Amino acid sequence: MIDNKIIYLDHAATTALDSRVLSEMLPFFGEKFGNPSSVYTFASGNREAVNNSRRIIAETLGAKPSEIYFTAGGSESDNWAIKGAAFANRDKGKHIITTKIEHHAVLHTTEYLSEQGFDITYLDVDENGIISLYDLKQAIRPDTILISVMFANNEIGSIQPINEIGEIAKEHNILFHTDAVQAYAQLPIDVNDLNIDMLSASGHKFNGPKGTGFLYIKNGTKIDNFIHGGQQERGKRAGTENVPGIVGIGKAAFLAHESMSGRIQNETELRDYIIDNILLKIPYARLNGHRTKRLPNNVNFSFQFIEGESLLILLDMAGICASSGSACTSGSTDPSHVLTALGLPNEVARGSLRLTLGAENTKEEIDFVINQIIKNVEQLRNSSPQYEDYNRRSI
Ligand SMILES: *Cc1c(COP(=O)(O)O)cnc(C)c1O
Repeated sequence: MIDNKIIYLDHAATTALDSRVLSEMLPFFGEKFGNPSSVYTFASGNREAVNNSRRIIAETLGAKPSEIYFTAGGSESDNWAIKGAAFANRDKGKHIITTKIEHHAVLHTTEYLSEQGFDITYLDVDENGIISLYDLKQAIRPDTILISVMFANNEIGSIQPINEIGEIAKEHNILFHTDAVQAYAQLPIDVNDLNIDMLSASGHKFNGPKGTGFLYIKNGTKIDNFIHGGQQERGKRAGTENVPGIVGIGKAAFLAHESMSGRIQNETELRDYIIDNILLKIPYARLNGHRTKRLPNNVNFSFQFIEGESLLILLDMAGICASSGSACTSGSTDPSHVLTALGLPNEVARGSLRLTLGAENTKEEIDFVINQIIKNVEQLRNSSPQYEDYNRRSI
């Protein structure tokens, strides 16, 4: 803690709502309560606000407004893309290709589909968390209908070769979905350049409101409607629009893209500063994820001979919010499926720490955090029997 302030380094779990986003949303919780579908003038502002957000988000991706569908978050977008494409195309085939390091919103969806008679191939990743394009090509069959590969990983930050995957999918006439929840608003994305058919994003990962998200669906993509009911979202995702949320995610998308290049530069500098210092000053430390093909705001280490959970508690006592893996797995002591997929032995994977930066983090905070990590790793190791054993044996 510096000046009694929490140091927040868990931006991959969620981010603070930007105050400018909040002010934009507030009137839509109050006097501007009209239903966007109503015909009278009073509601036309609400319709206009929803369309405006759709336009903003389309522009950030090089897409058309008619290709953006608002959802209630990243998990919903992933569910819709994968189930919707699977069921709409099952006459063509029942084979889906994804990876072992996807978010559970993807993995639990493909597990469900496998119970429904679909056949799923889970691609391995290399020791840096990146899939092999050769493996991908080998996995393609005549009945493959969908490839779903995340843009960037939420735990280890590794960025997949999306451009090449898009080309391969297009060549074989297979739909390509990417979970871009961590990449959207962190990296520039053009859905046409990258041959992406469907892309998931979530508002609360880029300083927008929780419970908001969108799915980009390229015009002409064969996909089932997700919520049956009224004509909202061109009849594909029924239900009266979450107008304040949609206004909020639009404003957050605008602000995040306006500040993107500066943010990428600052965060990359801080990220590399943390990596260089930790690897230099802490023995038996490993960087998880690719050294350069990684999100500008992500670092993830494994420290041998300690438990990541214990380190988190000590950092928490110093006012530092960090994570030992994905938020969904905290509470369980099993190493995350992502770290396991890298080939890390359990005892190494369990000593992992993830820090994810945001625009407000300063060099002063990072210096404090690096010192706390060094101090606490040393303290934990000094009370670790395995570490003592190891040192005795190596003398
Ligand atoms: C956070 C996250 C999700 C889920 O998004 P929600 O909006 O919280 O449902 C999905 N995929 C990835 C990669 C994420 O980081």
